[in-house]
Amino acid sequence: MEAYAYAAPSSIAEVTALLQEHANDGRPTQILAGGTDVLVQMRSSRRAPRTIVDIKRLQETNRLEVSQDQIYIGSAVPSARMQENSELKALYPGLLEAADLIGSTQVQGRATICGNLCNASPAGDSIPALIAAGAVCDIATQSGAREMAVERFVVGVGRNALADGEFLLGVKLPRPGVGTKDAYLRFTPRTEMDIAVAGVGVSVTVQDGICSAARVAIGAVATTALLVPDAAKALIGSTLDDDALQAAGNACQAAAQPISDKRGSAAYRKKIVAVLCRRAVQVAGARAIER
Ligand SMILES: Cc1cc2nc3c(=O)[nH]c(=O)nc-3n(C[C@H](O)[C@H](O)[C@H](O)COP(=O)(O)OP(=O)(O)OC[C@H]3O[C@@H](n4cnc5c(N)ncnc54)[C@H](O)[C@@H]3O)c2cc1C
Repeated sequence: MEAYAYAAPSSIAEVTALLQEHANDGRPTQILAGGTDVLVQMRSSRRAPRTIVDIKRLQETNRLEVSQDQIYIGSAVPSARMQENSELKALYPGLLEAADLIGSTQVQGRATICGNLCNASPAGDSIPALIAAGAVCDIATQSGAREMAVERFVVGVGRNALADGEFLLGVKLPRPGVGTKDAYLRFTPRTEMDIAVAGVGVSVTVQDGICSAARVAIGAVATTALLVPDAAKALIGSTLDDDALQAAGNACQAAAQPISDKRGSAAYRKKIVAVLCRRAVQVAGARAIER
């Protein structure tokens, strides 16, 4: 019987080479970041022996930088470290809210938002928030790097766009200007330690009382989190008044393709996603004019 193997490379080139070599030989690998999904999967769904590739020793994956034009969150940065960064918290309160909803304090000491994204659960909380923020994936490849918008990264339930030999190095976010703020809201049957029945991430820019830019993303109501351009269209040019909120909520409802399960029927999820959209826009809008 084969055993699990463990590797902890210290450079990007070593990681991509190891992933590629294993892929060429048909030997399975799995990246280990915080391990809060990996360890659960090792005991339940994904038990087959494989080489676990720990990426926490890389300098690049531990980068957390807030600069004048960009924010970089490395793929080994746990949620708890993000919460300690007051500048990041002020710039992206919605993304930090989403990360703060993942599990408990103990889980957040390990869990990364990049792991949440790569795990590609339809209910992953950070994914709609990252999409709303306009985040871009920084993907390490054997020949260098490539970038991809977060909304294109998840391609199905538990599936992402990484090719053999690739891993996610981190995510890049634009530094929001004055008047741009985000929010993330989800609905869960329990108040804590539960996964979303529906979730909505919103970013809005408000200039002189008018919404000049918006991004709206919905989660847990389709096989992947979805960007909803029609919801953004309904908000842009408005004062974020009731009619605009209603239209944006309706657009989210139209875009949702939920399933029914023990945690909520499809009809219920569609209703909830519209309510969450309206509320999240109100929260983001109030933050945008707070200054
Ligand atoms: C008690 C508990 C409660 C939870 N509650 C929530 C919740 O409320 N909301 C929610 O969304 N999630 C929740 N989760 C799930 C989990 O904590 C998150 O998905 C977490 O963000 C995963 O991050 P991680 O760093 O631990 O990833 P890991 O477990 O290390 O990895 C997750 C998956 O992504 C892959 N991966 C990780 N990093 C990379 C990379 N850089 N490149 C390529 N592939 C990579 C791994 O191979 C694995 O398949 C919970 C988990 C537990 C145990």
